[in-house]
Formats: sequence, C-alpha cells, structure tokens
Amino acid sequence: MSSDFQIVGGGVIGLLTARELALAGATVTVIERRTCCSEASWAGGGIVSPLYPWRYSAAVTALASQAQASYPGLCAALHAETGIDPEHEVTGLLLLDAEDAQQALHWARSVSKPMDEWQTGALYRHESGLAAGFQHALWMPGIANVRNPRLGQALTASLRRHPRVTLLEHTAVLGVDWVTGSGARRIRALQLEEAGVPRRLPATQVIIAAGAWSGRLLQLAQVSVPVTPVKGQMLLYEAPQRLLHSMVLHAGRYLIPRRDRHILVGSTLEYADFDKTTTEEGLQSLRSSAIAMLPALAELPVKQHWAGLRPGAPQGIPRIGALPQWSNLHINAGHFRNGLVLAPASARLLADSLLGRVPLIDPAPYAPGLQVSL
Ligand SMILES: Cc1cc2nc3c(=O)[nH]c(=O)nc-3n(C[C@H](O)[C@H](O)[C@H](O)COP(=O)(O)OP(=O)(O)OC[C@H]3O[C@@H](n4cnc5c(N)ncnc54)[C@H](O)[C@@H]3O)c2cc1C
Repeated sequence: MSSDFQIVGGGVIGLLTARELALAGATVTVIERRTCCSEASWAGGGIVSPLYPWRYSAAVTALASQAQASYPGLCAALHAETGIDPEHEVTGLLLLDAEDAQQALHWARSVSKPMDEWQTGALYRHESGLAAGFQHALWMPGIANVRNPRLGQALTASLRRHPRVTLLEHTAVLGVDWVTGSGARRIRALQLEEAGVPRRLPATQVIIAAGAWSGRLLQLAQVSVPVTPVKGQMLLYEAPQRLLHSMVLHAGRYLIPRRDRHILVGSTLEYADFDKTTTEEGLQSLRSSAIAMLPALAELPVKQHWAGLRPGAPQGIPRIGALPQWSNLHINAGHFRNGLVLAPASARLLADSLLGRVPLIDPAPYAPGLQVSL
C-alpha cells in the first residue's frame, strides 16, 4: 500500500519533514538517491543562526527564531532515541569589526536577541588567541552550533526504526508520471531507479525536498522554481588543545569550534552549477582567512577539505508549500545558507499545512511563486 506522503530528498529538510508527519500519525516514504544527509546537510558548518541575521528578511528571522527555540529539545530527543548526540552547543558567536554594527544592535533590540558591543579589552579577555588588531566586536552569546553530520546520523537512525517511515536510500527519482484532471494536475507515480533497476512508485502526496537539485527535479514536471546550486568549500583543523571557545566571524568567513578540538573554517560562495570539486584557490583563501583570525592555525595541517551545494533561492527565502495548479505536489527547498538552522521550523510549517493544522507562523512569504511552462 502507498504511504500518505512521498518525500524526494533525504537531507535535513526531507528527514525532518518526514519526522513531523510521522509523529502526527502519517505514513511516509523518503526517497534518497545516495545515503541520507550526505550532501549539503553533511557539508554545512552547522551554525544555528543565519550569518549576519539582520541582513535577512523578516521571513527568514521568523523561521530561524522558531527553529532556534526547538533545537535543544530536538537534539535531546534524537540523542535519547538513538544514542547519537548531535552536539548542540551554545558557544556564542563573536563578530569582529562589523561595518554595520549599529544596524545589528538595532535589529537585536527590535527582535529581543541578546547582543553586546565589546571593545578590545573584553574581546581579548574572552578569546586570547585571536590575531592582534581587531578594534571592536559584537558578542551574540545565545548562538549555538550543531554537529550536522551527527544530526544527520541521528535523524536517519530515528526514522529507520520508525514504524510509519520507509527510507529508500540509493534510490533516485528520474521522472514523474502525471495527469491533468479537472483544472489541476496530479502526479500519478514517481519513476525510480534502484541499483540500475527502474520501477514506478504510486504517488499520494509528493514533497520535493531535494535541496540544490529541487529546481532541476521539478523541471521534470515542467514546473519552474528558482532553486539553484551555490557551492561552498570548507576546511577542518584538529588542534592539540582548545584554541577557541566561541564561533568567530570576520569579513564573511567563520571559525566553528567543536567539542573535541576540531575547528571548521567556512566558507566560499561560488556559482558553479552542479560542480562540487574542491580547488587549491578555495583552500588557500579559506586558510588565509582562518589564520588572519586565529594565527595558531598557521602551525597546523588542514585535516580535511570539502565542498557542498547549497540550495540557493532569491533573498535566501525557502519555498514551502503546495505548488499551485497541482493537487498533490509540494515543495520544501531553497534554504540557501541557512538550511540547518531553518530546518525544524520549515518542516513544522509544511506539516501544518499538509495536515490542516493552524501554522505557528504565517506561511504566505514562503508560498511557491512559480511560472509554469507548458
Ligand atoms: C559549505 C556550507 C556551509 C553551510 N553552513 C551552514 C550553517 O552553518 N548553518 C546553516 O543553517 N546552514 C548551512 N549551510 C546550508 C545547509 O547545509 C543547507 O541549506 C541544507 O543542508 C539544505 O538541506 P536540504 O535537505 O534542502 O538539502 P541536501 O542536504 O542537499 O539534501 C537534498 C537531498 O536530495 C537528494 N536528491 C537530489 N536529487 C534527488 C533525486 N532525483 N532523487 C532522490 N534524491 C535526490 C540529494 O542526494 C540530497 O541528499 C551550509 C551549506 C554549505 C554547502
């Protein structure tokens, strides 16, 4: 028998949407062409906040605020269910020498987020290893990071044992069969391929949560949504002792300390279609940004270097909801640089709309405004 929902894409957005629906009693099938959470949801840094949140629209802030409040409970529940700790850590974030500090402080007051202005004394007392010469900092003590590869493992393990969820990994959606009914179109079946073997999966309600690939996938149904890939490269260091206590952000680049002395450095922003290769130029650029913030990193080798594809969308506002002119096609994609922080709230919002519940936030700003090409 078909599930109530078929979700295409097993990243953090698809998996959290599946969790919301299953917890409400629905049956769900997730179709993932690789293993779950092995694309952007693995590659990201895991900062549980937009970078420079005051530069985003109220639509992004609304999702972020709701998600930030739910993260500790979500991670504790996943840890208890699976034994895998997503390591949600409130380290705070230090923004060095921001050009728009006054705008940031004004924003923080208006949305009641804690933010302090520090001069050099307080800054270097807090992080003594930072490079000399920074004049000013904004301190955001409430910001956390999550170890996103472990969040992905915990979510996958939790769904794998859920009686109402079927995870189809190593299974790609290659096409869709649809019919036109009375005014609306309807997906009849998803064309799948598993280990080279094609088959059709009857469709009930289909949710596209395929990250950077969502725009390309929807073209199969002749639907156009502005979700496109934006490459980001990252570096990883492992320090012999704790070099950093808080996340640090300067000139668009950031350092994220993990519990076990790893430090992540992010990230480049490259418009390179679906190319995910790492480059020497990316490595050198990230390395010099990292050393300019924390000189001790110059003595350490780069332990790992990787790239992922963010699902880019105009103004970084994700598309969440039903596609007009379709009776059973929905989207949850386009979270750009903020998919990890926004995921719990995005999943909740789409589940509210699919299950006819009163949404916690107004869904209007995320409605898929699209052109249909026939
Ligand atoms: C370098 C970098 C740093 C980042 N840092 C942060 C950060 O600090 N904080 C933050 O909030 N966000 C961050 N992000 C953004 C965040 O990682 C993404 O917005 C988020 O992971 C998107 O999740 P997703 O589930 O939509 O996409 P993905 O995780 O990419 O998942 C989509 C899934 O769909 C699958 N799929 C695609 N096509 C098909 C198909 N035809 N059939 C079946 N399956 C398919 C893919 O295999 C993939 O697993 C960062 C991203 C990058 C790349």
